Amino acid sequence: MIELLIKNGHIVDPANNIDMVGDVLVRDGVIRELGKVNGDGRDVIDASNLLVVPGLIDMHVHLREPGDEEEETIASGSAAAVAGGFTSVACMPNTEPTIDNEATVDFVYRRADRADKANVFAVGAITKGRQGKELAEMGQMVRGGAVAFSDDGEGVQSASVMLHALKYAGMFDKVIMQHCQDNALAGDGCMNSGYLATVLGLPGIAPLAEELMLYRDVQLAKQASARLHVQHITTAGSVEILRQAKRQGSKVTAEVAPHHLLLTEEGCRSYDPNYKMNPPLRTQKDIEALRQGVADGTIDCLASDHAPHLRSEKELEFLHAPFGIISLDCALGLYVKALIETQTIDWPRLIEMMTINPAEILRIDRGTLSVGARADITIIDPHHSWRVCVDEFKSKSRNCPYDGWELGARAVCTIVNGVVQLQLIPHKCGS
Ligand SMILES: [Zn+2]
Ligand SMILES: [Zn+2]
Repeated sequence: MIELLIKNGHIVDPANNIDMVGDVLVRDGVIRELGKVNGDGRDVIDASNLLVVPGLIDMHVHLREPGDEEEETIASGSAAAVAGGFTSVACMPNTEPTIDNEATVDFVYRRADRADKANVFAVGAITKGRQGKELAEMGQMVRGGAVAFSDDGEGVQSASVMLHALKYAGMFDKVIMQHCQDNALAGDGCMNSGYLATVLGLPGIAPLAEELMLYRDVQLAKQASARLHVQHITTAGSVEILRQAKRQGSKVTAEVAPHHLLLTEEGCRSYDPNYKMNPPLRTQKDIEALRQGVADGTIDCLASDHAPHLRSEKELEFLHAPFGIISLDCALGLYVKALIETQTIDWPRLIEMMTINPAEILRIDRGTLSVGARADITIIDPHHSWRVCVDEFKSKSRNCPYDGWELGARAVCTIVNGVVQLQLIPHKCGS
């Protein structure tokens, strides 16, 4: 029998409307008691002045395995997750080969079991090979444990294929997650379109490329009576389309990534490929609209879009470097900087967006501290000043624009299924 007592923490569990100082007792990987618990003879973690919250969930990461293990593996990515306070991640299927069948989904779960760090949930591809033409075998992937479907890296260009995908996934109560981008409009763009792109001589991606597909998909989801989740939204126009859709009762949810809440296209002036992402960094006006969307509930989740790349690739010139950056190791501090330090939202809302909201969208049995729930718990120091050092990241890659940033909050303990995976605070062993 393994017992662990977390004492005197500030417990925040939005799913149960809990916001109080108290103790959490864990036994055999399950939360057994919440409130006032006697510590005699037990392993005790003193959580005074710390937040005790359900294990954080990142519903959008790239773990690169199978195929690009020199960039990241399921083991290294899940180590980065627990270092950052995440107990669960959902990994995208744009691997080599694509995660578009039951055997590959099964491979992800076996690797995650072997790594034994964070819970890893596989997202299957919507179409075979992410080619956008023929639906993948979603039913078989559901049987293998796929929690959702996405062709991330690409949006599904054909409205007809997307409509079928929404209907088919809906039969299994699984959500379609879309990387909204119209390829014909985006062309070979590599940053936000507009004046700055012209000055820098770089091809741009117009906000309309995202907004057009988002608007289309909202209509398709309505037609299919299916759930739609919009990945990494970036523009003020997208926030407005979502706000209207939700007002009209659409079953649409959305996420935003830390870089789109903190960085603007101005970063591209340096021609540093760590400012090259897809969808691209936009403007301060878009950041304000995204923060407003977070505040009023238009945006449901925070997701890192952790996208590892080799140093040699990210050192190519801006136009030719791959899209994407990593942030799993430091994402929590980034969200706090973007949303709490700017007084956009409070801690319970932040935790809701990182726990119960993604859990409900993915239909996974996580995201709460309910008695009887699996003991996935994150302890956060909300006043921990630290400097980001990418060389200390557990991720295998280093493509990160936040190196050297000062952040004001950090996960200090990550507990997955009752097992302590990260421990930066004192811990007293019971007798
Ligand atoms: Zn994407
Ligand atoms: Zn992605």
